[in-house]
Amino acid sequence: MGVEKIVVLGTGGTIAGLAAPAADSRVYVAAQKPVAELVTGLAAPSGFELLSEQVAQIDSKDMDLAVWQKLLQRCVHWLAQADVRGLVITHGTDTLEETAFLLQTVLAPRKPVVLTCAMRPADAADADGPQNLRDALVVAATAGAQGVLAVCAGRIFGAQDVQKVHSSRLDAFSAGEAGDVGRVHQGHVDRQRDWPQPREPQEMLLEVLLRASALPRVEIVLSHAAACGATVDMLVDPAAAARFGVPPVRGLVLAGTGGGTVHHELEAALRRAQAGGVRVLRSTRCNDGFLQPRPKDEFPVAAGLSAVKARLALMLELLH
Ligand code: ASP
Repeated sequence: MGVEKIVVLGTGGTIAGLAAPAADSRVYVAAQKPVAELVTGLAAPSGFELLSEQVAQIDSKDMDLAVWQKLLQRCVHWLAQADVRGLVITHGTDTLEETAFLLQTVLAPRKPVVLTCAMRPADAADADGPQNLRDALVVAATAGAQGVLAVCAGRIFGAQDVQKVHSSRLDAFSAGEAGDVGRVHQGHVDRQRDWPQPREPQEMLLEVLLRASALPRVEIVLSHAAACGATVDMLVDPAAAARFGVPPVRGLVLAGTGGGTVHHELEAALRRAQAGGVRVLRSTRCNDGFLQPRPKDEFPVAAGLSAVKARLALMLELLH
């Protein structure tokens, strides 16, 4: 085996963003700078060689199935190379948690796959991307590191728990009560929890996902004061779906209030949807805290998952 490699896969995001000519970093366009340029001049961790590959160039708010399919394919390809120690993925912050969760659910790799990002564009005077990328490389090169991780502002998160919790702060992510996996400080990892656990790869699921032309339609319903049940009735009406040329809804994820409670109007509508064959999962609109299944739960709990991750989990289950 030659020199061990770390492969940096570029998908876009603010880390590859460029500001308008006035160099006001609040006004910028994401996904402009090629990943090869992001790694130029970065020192590889000692004993490693860096490779890079552009998988996509998007603002991650626009993440879709086609990009996920390509990213999965390239991850599978590179992870299978004996001389590749790990992967780093540059990604927008907006849907980083969804991509991380998808990769961990489908691949649960024995090698590290580290997503990283930035809150300021690449050409900002005080850009945070280069340091985040350096930290992600350190994590990918760390002996024993495994699973899908996210690195931002010196913090390391597991894919299951990571969530964007702030719209502008550099330290924009949290793992809530689950806690950070660890920290990266001056080129060293200080680990506080276990790495995400590897599993046998979900080969069937991967195959189905790579062949899929669409994901099963699952929508998120937020419970709030003065909610209206008709919102759910309209969502699951097959005639409405046909009118808009979209597939009928197969699942609903409730982002409930507090401990997963739901306004009585929405509850009645969700019950009607469930009786009509739509899968309903319950999560909470709170950022922190875990929902516990309760006896006689009408709507099963998406244990330990935010609404967006519960939605992905349900889509994968329905696809499978
Ligand atoms: N909209 C950007 C993205 O998610 C935001 C970011 O990267 O911070 O691609």
